Amino acid sequence: MSWSFETDPEFQKQLDWIDQFTRDEIEPLDLVFRGPGDPWDPDSPAAKAMAPLRAIVKEKKLWACHLGAELGGGGYGQVKLGLMNEILGRSRFGPSVFGCQAPDSGNAEILAHFGTPEQKRKYLQPLLNAEIASCYSMTEPQAGADPAEFTCTATRDGDEWVINGEKWFASHARFSAFLLVMVVTNTEVPIHEGASIVLVEQGTPGMDILRNSAVGPYVEQGDGVHGYIRFTDCRVPADALLGEEGKGFLVAQTRLGGGRVHHAMRSVGVLKKAMDMMCERVLSRTTKGELLANKQFTQEKIADSYTQILQYRLHVLYTAWLIDKHKEYNREVRKEIAAIKAATPKILHDVVYRAMHLHGSLGMSDEVPLMNMWANIPELGVVDGPSEVHKVTVARTVLREYEAAPGMFPTYHTPTQSVAAFEKYGHYLPDADA
Ligand SMILES: Cc1cc2nc3c(=O)[nH]c(=O)nc-3n(C[C@H](O)[C@H](O)[C@H](O)COP(=O)(O)OP(=O)(O)OC[C@H]3O[C@@H](n4cnc5c(N)ncnc54)[C@H](O)[C@@H]3O)c2cc1C
Repeated sequence: MSWSFETDPEFQKQLDWIDQFTRDEIEPLDLVFRGPGDPWDPDSPAAKAMAPLRAIVKEKKLWACHLGAELGGGGYGQVKLGLMNEILGRSRFGPSVFGCQAPDSGNAEILAHFGTPEQKRKYLQPLLNAEIASCYSMTEPQAGADPAEFTCTATRDGDEWVINGEKWFASHARFSAFLLVMVVTNTEVPIHEGASIVLVEQGTPGMDILRNSAVGPYVEQGDGVHGYIRFTDCRVPADALLGEEGKGFLVAQTRLGGGRVHHAMRSVGVLKKAMDMMCERVLSRTTKGELLANKQFTQEKIADSYTQILQYRLHVLYTAWLIDKHKEYNREVRKEIAAIKAATPKILHDVVYRAMHLHGSLGMSDEVPLMNMWANIPELGVVDGPSEVHKVTVARTVLREYEAAPGMFPTYHTPTQSVAAFEKYGHYLPDADA
């Protein structure tokens, strides 16, 4: 029997260090480097500012902790990663300084699992060293949540694959050294057996970024980091396949499962930061002769936020614990990942809104970070699949554990149950013999 909610003291010391380092060294980066690609673009000025911080993290052996030791990471497992990520989530730069930023983290994971020795040498090592960025491109302009609608194909021509079609919202495409692109390689079979992932290097003739979209209204049009890409007879070598032909979704599952949990772990960090701001503010502001903190409407917001965050955090850590236990994304793990994925935008919406609201005009101004948090909430309900799809996964998995009633009335039908109950215990009643 083991059921513990404690962090071992040695790792707690590391977490304390990460917390201080994040507040002192990383969060200031958010104030100076505000460009949409700054935390991820290896050529941005922010990359130079991050370099000495990354060196310290590597020295502390906290670099790329999402990967097992055998794959070049810290090998700490998901629970420890969860505890780290909930601190790193305070800053846009946190994951990049610690070498666990999406989408590179997931891309490194699948390269490590499925890459050929040559692919690992050429792409994985520089990616792990943060010398290059990478992109995972699956969504198409006409289809995101339903892969059966994908039409971007790669057909074999001698020693090459020829790619034709379009991709949409490919994050970081414009500054990535390579893209992992989901393509249909066999149109005769269902998509889950006919899709493959091909590796396309930046600058390959036939690959054009038509434009770059941004999330939210605050970025100059065209300066976003999510690429709309067209492939026109774009040729890549036959050995550019990542994993086996037709196994694209098997490969993708390895990264999407992890990616969803990591987003949730970082969201705990965002929530805690919003909570910190909310609590400081209500203890600092007086209205109608008393602190905002003393008003019961405020106390309800604090109490509801506290409870929701704790429930969500425990669910995220429980999911991390399950992954460590099973060491695979089995059905039980996938159910919990889907559940926290669907819960994420809702709790962020509730807590960040309360924090903004309690700050009044300041809360929605550009003088505190709450509006930026707010602007990023809707994407968490869509990225890596919409909430509806994840709720369906949860419901289907839950319902597998139940079956229909054998007769007309439910198994918990009181009159039916009472007959058996009275047979068992009825003779104890005082008038049983009467
Ligand atoms: C910030 C951001 C970054 C992204 N980065 C990447 C990336 O790097 N690479 C990449 O490939 N993609 C990326 N995406 C795209 C993302 O994966 C898709 O947005 C997502 O899969 C949904 O696809 P869609 O946008 O085409 O929406 P659609 O598939 O058109 O769905 C729209 C809406 O329809 C509803 N809906 C869809 N399916 C169902 C269903 N089965 N049941 C009920 N309702 C449903 C939901 O309300 C859903 O939100 C990114 C998206 C965002 C917002």
